[in-house]
Amino acid sequence: MKIAILKEEAGETRCAAIPETVKKFIALGADIMIESGAGEGASIPDSDFIDAGATVGKRAAVLDGAEVILTISGPDPQTLAGAKPAALLVGSLDPLRRRQEILAYAGAGLEALAMEWMPRITRAQSMDVLSSQSNLAGYKAVVDAAAAFGRAFPMMMTAAGTISPAKAFIMGVGVAGLQAIATAKRLGAQVSATDVRSATKEQIQSLGAKPIFVENVAGIEGEGAGGYATEMSEEYQKAQAELVSGHIAKQDIVITTALIPGRPAPRLISDGQVATMRAGSVIVDLAAEAGGNVEGTIAGERVVRHGVTIIGASNLARTLAADASALFARNLYNFLSAFWDKDRGQVVLPDDDEIVKAVRLTQGGKLVNERLGAA
Ligand code: NAD
Repeated sequence: MKIAILKEEAGETRCAAIPETVKKFIALGADIMIESGAGEGASIPDSDFIDAGATVGKRAAVLDGAEVILTISGPDPQTLAGAKPAALLVGSLDPLRRRQEILAYAGAGLEALAMEWMPRITRAQSMDVLSSQSNLAGYKAVVDAAAAFGRAFPMMMTAAGTISPAKAFIMGVGVAGLQAIATAKRLGAQVSATDVRSATKEQIQSLGAKPIFVENVAGIEGEGAGGYATEMSEEYQKAQAELVSGHIAKQDIVITTALIPGRPAPRLISDGQVATMRAGSVIVDLAAEAGGNVEGTIAGERVVRHGVTIIGASNLARTLAADASALFARNLYNFLSAFWDKDRGQVVLPDDDEIVKAVRLTQGGKLVNERLGAA
């Protein structure tokens, strides 16, 4: 089976393979073709891929006869000529926002598989790109906040006097939020956190942070469907706004990560609440791409409101390209190797498999995923 790894489009620093996964695919019996320069953004020179056993070349040669194309964020459909009919295109394809491209993949006869639609089941945990990339984003959000903050995080007792520790508040305690709590703790901040799912209370405490929860209106008991939150009632939103108003004015650093699948990000902080924070405070909004948790957030930009810096974080995993590539590439390997048919020496995706049904977008020239409106 011939697997092609392409150089990603401008702006994408990550690479869908690393030498380790190249070796593992070769051990399964695959041939690996890598477009020259594909690893550049992730500090992987072509020579490392060649040493791992891959063939490195120009795009046309890499695609010629490819049965699988691995990608991080989905190539331009116009640039994929040469792949075998019904070749698998596997990556984070952003199906809802890139519908035209997904239709074009179908038109080109490709079977597109969206890694971000991996179901949240135990078997798929090692294939979950949302988790692997969010974890890194949670870490980087805190590091970026620390870099933009004109004060120190830890308490310091010096001959010139004492510096008090920074107070950090993490809103939304999923994968990114948990890593943000852990990172802020390691840097020495006093950390508090909130979520709508009651199951997170214990997780917050186990990381040594203080849970701040709405008590008078019920949140989501336990994990919520598929581990995800839903939109909250007006009553809950009002109680949450009051809770945040009382807490946020005392915070130096706020990291927001709250997302609701398929919906705009919930608004958690108003401009009026930002105004109550001390000048020099920093907010990192990890939900910026989904509309933002903070009023005034602009995705990909840094704005100052009432003396508070609001960072509209956009795809932070890209700023940790080497680690992000390694985790993403392993997610891809774990996915394909789980469906590897040893006798046939290729990937076989059973139609009735829960994972296949969730991630498969196109087949036989058509959209085949319910979430894309297919019958
Ligand atoms: P997410 O990115 O969808 O959302 C981030 C967090 O924001 C969630 O914790 C959510 O509850 C919270 N949130 C939503 N609305 C909010 C609001 N109004 N106020 C405050 N917080 C709000 O979540 P995620 O990081 O993908 O993780 C969600 C859960 O799924 C976690 O429990 C995680 O451990 C679990 N998970 C399971 C698997 C698996 O089993 N394969 C994989 C990944 C995640």
